[in-house]
Amino acid sequence: MHKKIEIKSERRESMIDITDDVQKIVDESGVKDGLCNIFVPHATAAITLNENADPNVGADILDFLAKHIPKGTWRHDRIDGNADAHIKASIIGPSETIPISDGKLVLGTWQDIFLCCFDGPRKRDVVVSILK
Ligand code: ZN
Repeated sequence: MHKKIEIKSERRESMIDITDDVQKIVDESGVKDGLCNIFVPHATAAITLNENADPNVGADILDFLAKHIPKGTWRHDRIDGNADAHIKASIIGPSETIPISDGKLVLGTWQDIFLCCFDGPRKRDVVVSILK
């Protein structure tokens, strides 16, 4: 079963915690043991798992990427000025797969699911697939 979540990013770059939205889809699916895949069908966005207790972790990841992948120095920038966003999206990757046990996503205490948007603000789709 697949379900789509719509997320609106508010800045050019952001890390948006979507864990509660994804767990809600797992709840609705009724699947107790299986796999959950979270996929973003966009060339300038990505999915990652990391800490949410300290929001600086997400900010540090964005700062790290900005430091190593500067804006405006790539071939694709001549076309639409967002080459850095494409490179960041490829490095982080478009999906993550998480086990489901007893109807809950098996995430570590400090792990949450983040939609990484590298070329906002804009509306993003996230596709959540539940496999039994
Ligand atoms: Zn582009």
